[in-house]
Amino acid sequence: MICRNCNQEVPEGVRFCPGCGSRTDAAQNSENTGPAHETVLLLTRQLQEASERNAALEQQLIRQKEEADRKLKQASTGWFIAFLIACGSMFLFILTLL
Ligand SMILES: [Zn+2]
Repeated sequence: MICRNCNQEVPEGVRFCPGCGSRTDAAQNSENTGPAHETVLLLTRQLQEASERNAALEQQLIRQKEEADRKLKQASTGWFIAFLIACGSMFLFILTLL
């Protein structure tokens, strides 16, 4: 590899020219690919985390809905039993009056 600045021979993969200290093609290449690659990795990780969070939230919502349904059923069953007891006692009360 030849330095673009001073045309000296530079070892492959070296980021800075030993002769003049200017940046080499290797430095530019790694800067072009490195941060972009890291950004992609970061975005992928964030996306994975977001989808995992979404799945967790969805499961939480489903659990909450199931619990609410169960509570509603329990509540309506309770009210039905209370209604039956009220009817029964009314019926017994009327019977005692007769
Ligand atoms: Zn140089």
